[in-house]
Amino acid sequence: MDHVSHPEIREAVARLCARFPGEYWRGLDRDRVYPTEFVNALTEAGFLSVLIPEEYGGSGLGLGAATAVLEEIHRSGGNGGACHAQIYTMGCVLRHGSAEQKARYLPGVASGEIRLQAFGVTEPTAGTDTTRISTFARRDGDRYIVNGQKIWISRAEHSDLMVLLVRTTPREDVKRASDGMSVLLVDMREAVGNGLTIRPIRTMINHATTELFFDDLSVPAENLIGEEGRGFHYILDGMNAERILIAAECIGDGKFFLDRGAAYAKDRKVFGRPIGENQGIQFPLARAHVQVSAAALMVDHATALFEADQPCGTEADMAKLLASEASWYAADQCLQIHGGFGFAEEYDIERKFRETRLYQVAPISTNLILSHVATHVLGLPKSF
Ligand SMILES: Cc1cc2nc3c(=O)[nH]c(=O)nc-3n(C[C@H](O)[C@H](O)[C@H](O)COP(=O)(O)OP(=O)(O)OC[C@H]3O[C@@H](n4cnc5c(N)ncnc54)[C@H](O)[C@@H]3O)c2cc1C
Repeated sequence: MDHVSHPEIREAVARLCARFPGEYWRGLDRDRVYPTEFVNALTEAGFLSVLIPEEYGGSGLGLGAATAVLEEIHRSGGNGGACHAQIYTMGCVLRHGSAEQKARYLPGVASGEIRLQAFGVTEPTAGTDTTRISTFARRDGDRYIVNGQKIWISRAEHSDLMVLLVRTTPREDVKRASDGMSVLLVDMREAVGNGLTIRPIRTMINHATTELFFDDLSVPAENLIGEEGRGFHYILDGMNAERILIAAECIGDGKFFLDRGAAYAKDRKVFGRPIGENQGIQFPLARAHVQVSAAALMVDHATALFEADQPCGTEADMAKLLASEASWYAADQCLQIHGGFGFAEEYDIERKFRETRLYQVAPISTNLILSHVATHVLGLPKSF
């Protein structure tokens, strides 16, 4: 089942991850601590700058290299959620930033000196309906003054810069609801305590996610990315990479559960024989393997389209849906096969089970993908 793409990257990532075993992740999970040493090791090895062009100090590789990195982290039992956004958030600056902004920020992001791994889109009252965001940036001379609130903004406390989506024109004053939003690059080092308050949210997984409150935060107008009013389109642009990379994490999770499930089924003896001799144990594992393999092909397909600069929004969505459901099925079966031991923290199954559940909700929930496929691919009438 293993992919053959980027074997050298996979081996190097697997070697690095072996230095961070289950015990490491368990300890962090227990106290909801950020995996600083792991993130530093990945940064030093250059794995977080694979998508940054060489002229800015990255390795200039395609998206497939990044999927290999994240899949292997997850297959090893770790979690890329603490830093995966360092790989792709910079895409907004790379694609839509000015030459000056790229020269100013990208080399630091590539070296890891600058952490650009927070992106603020979701708001408590807007939910998935992003055009309803109300965080507003008012132009005042050479500054923007930002007021509003964001929720579920991950890694905000571990980021030097944040890509922030704001309204710059009220929804009622634009022709299309998706117009009138803009992207600002917020320097968190200056903003926190000066109009930005970060409040961590404790969740069922160790994800460093937060709530943000903006109270007259002043941002230099030169930190506007691209054109004012076009921000929604810039954010949409970056979502394909994000969804494909998250799907790759799910494939890694799926393989983790299959590795662990099969090993345990061979080893555990009940009624005088390995439980894996029973077809009632074999078939769910085999089905999980089939589902993870099929989803992995969809991830590869979406990645190939992305690398060829072809439209891939639907394929990225479908890959994320299939991969998140395949990893969840594999997680459920792996836990079941482990019996009571599946619930013991030291096996890492329950932690990974909790972690992989996220991806049916974030970064886009399953229903929203189905709605996109129904209306955009099948031509069914829109329901909202
Ligand atoms: C741990 C975590 C980390 C996150 N990190 C970030 C981050 O870094 N930055 C960021 O901007 N956001 C982040 N998010 C937010 C995430 O993208 C959203 O939670 C997700 O998109 C779902 O939006 P919502 O929570 O507002 O759900 P809602 O939009 O309120 O939807 C709730 C449920 O209703 C369903 N639903 C809604 N409308 C319809 C409909 N018309 N038909 C059928 N079903 C519908 C949805 O599918 C969902 O299941 C994160 C979330 C979590 C939990």
